Amino acid sequence: MTQINEYLNIAISLDIDPDANTAVEGRHDALSASFNGKVCIKACKKGLQKILELLDVYDIESTLFYEARTAQMLLTDRMDLPELSERHEVSCHSLKHEDFLGRVSGMPMEENHIEETIIEAREILEKMFDRNIRGFRAPYTRINHTMVKVLERLGFQYDSSETRTMDAEWGCKPFPLEVFDSNLLEAALPILHDEKGKKMSAYLWAIFEGKRVHGEHINAVLQAKEVAKGGLFIFSIHPWHLYVDCQGNPFSREQVKKNLANLEYILSQLKQLHGIQILRQDKYMESWSEEKGSN
Ligand SMILES: [Zn+2]
Repeated sequence: MTQINEYLNIAISLDIDPDANTAVEGRHDALSASFNGKVCIKACKKGLQKILELLDVYDIESTLFYEARTAQMLLTDRMDLPELSERHEVSCHSLKHEDFLGRVSGMPMEENHIEETIIEAREILEKMFDRNIRGFRAPYTRINHTMVKVLERLGFQYDSSETRTMDAEWGCKPFPLEVFDSNLLEAALPILHDEKGKKMSAYLWAIFEGKRVHGEHINAVLQAKEVAKGGLFIFSIHPWHLYVDCQGNPFSREQVKKNLANLEYILSQLKQLHGIQILRQDKYMESWSEEKGSN
């Protein structure tokens, strides 16, 4: 069992979905922005390859939330996902990035449709990777009562879609989703405030769009060290975001280089900081549950 209490635990998680994906009015699935009603995975593929290389260089095990459709497209595009993902956790990020709640589509999905969709996604991933899928992250990080009920019924071990403001009271610990009348465990994404009091998310998108610098993310980790010892601080990355912006416009070569350098800086710093350890979300959840049970 991994020792978690002595450290601030860090997870590097990837949401592997289509380039600059966006929900669309009148349909459940997501499309790539500015690709004329298509789904593009070109930037996702390049970004994922680069990130997996970096994770190998720094000997980091991560959690890969795969959208099942994207995983199939990458495989068809001759990317050996099972081999490349071997040391990492494989988790579920829906079938086709459904707008389950219908916020943009205008068509909230019925419970049985949600269930069929998630079952299909999980089956595709379990077959492709030949292992059990235990974690779920919702598209747009949006969940509701119905979805949580479905996830619990399907035997998922944890959800990782909620965001929560980081403070000492929470301490970045897993908690049951009682707010949705459920016992399903949540590994929530932290939101914090930077030195200027500005809200900051654990997604690394702002750094790729030139809105944050790498040092701010390291400061966020130092802040977490103060209040969340024994907890899990989750970073999230969209692989496509190394190459295109949220609207799907390609970054210049210099910007791509900068994005890669920024990501590498963060990973290298995380490896050097004292009192932290980087681990997969499932391994953290396992240790946390075992410890909880023995108390
Ligand atoms: Zn997504």
